[in-house]
Amino acid sequence: MKTIGVLTSGGDAPGMNAAIRAVVRMGIAKGIKVMGIQRGYNGLINGEIFEMNRTSVSDIIQRGGTILKTARSEEFKTEEGRKKAFNVLRVFGIEGLIVIGGDGSFRGAQLISNEHTIKTVGVPGTIDNDLAYTDYSIGFDTALNTVLDAINKLRDTSTSHERVSIVEVMGRKCGDIALYSGLAGGAESIIIPEKKYDFNELCKTIIEGKVRGKMHNLILLAEGVGGAEQLSKDIQEVTGIETRATVLGHIQRGGSPSAFDRVLASKLGAKAVDVLIEEKSQRVVGIKNNEVVDIDIDEALRTIREFDEKFYELANILSL
Ligand code: ADP
Repeated sequence: MKTIGVLTSGGDAPGMNAAIRAVVRMGIAKGIKVMGIQRGYNGLINGEIFEMNRTSVSDIIQRGGTILKTARSEEFKTEEGRKKAFNVLRVFGIEGLIVIGGDGSFRGAQLISNEHTIKTVGVPGTIDNDLAYTDYSIGFDTALNTVLDAINKLRDTSTSHERVSIVEVMGRKCGDIALYSGLAGGAESIIIPEKKYDFNELCKTIIEGKVRGKMHNLILLAEGVGGAEQLSKDIQEVTGIETRATVLGHIQRGGSPSAFDRVLASKLGAKAVDVLIEEKSQRVVGIKNNEVVDIDIDEALRTIREFDEKFYELANILSL
């Protein structure tokens, strides 16, 4: 393996820069030429490629976002688009491609290496933590801390006004951001896509809390369940208690990565280079029981998320 490429794709996540840095520096340390590909698969098709050196990744470990930029590419979803991408890789002499992104980006990597002679490795970069094969993905911890900071602030103002506060966080199919930040932030209720919730029970909890003298009531809502605005109107109508909604939105994707995400990204980026040096292909790297692992991409994408019932139960017991 003489030349490898690295790109970031799909939704950005804090820590992607730390992963790029690890790929570049580990690659160079192992005598490999590392090419940076800008704007995901779109940039690959367009040939937005340049050689990276140790200084091109200086001063980025602490920065959110991705210096390579990210994009979504409809063209890459077609066989024709992937053929174009492969031709570009060949022209630049790239034999191995490291894709930092989520499950969509991994599917793209899987397809191009099925169809052409290019080795691919996926590095999990997504704040949602929705990749079942790895315990954590890069960006999740930082997003949690961002949400926690917002919760702390909202708690102050909700307490002053004795309000119910609903915080809507990211997570279409996976409620991990709501669940973990809800537990860490002492939320009274956590509503996630993995679990059905009972609106009447929710209102009862709010009313009982108020009667017991609770100064505020904090509800963590994952976006996949529904909108916070509507829920706040419904709660206010039934309970008669003032209820406000806050949608955190893209704030959750930004910010300087946490220590955990920087370390995780450094380990996984370096591992991805090792996997290519071993001439393996169609792999993804991740963390399982505190061990850095690499597994087959098909297996990774087939793995079904097991919901952590015990953790959910704990969050509920402690919230009362
Ligand atoms: P994420 O990687 O964060 O899940 P997306 O699902 O938007 O983000 O995927 C990012 C990009 O990966 C897409 O714009 C597309 O170029 C590529 N991609 C996603 N799904 C596929 C697929 N089924 N086949 C080929 N490429 C795909």
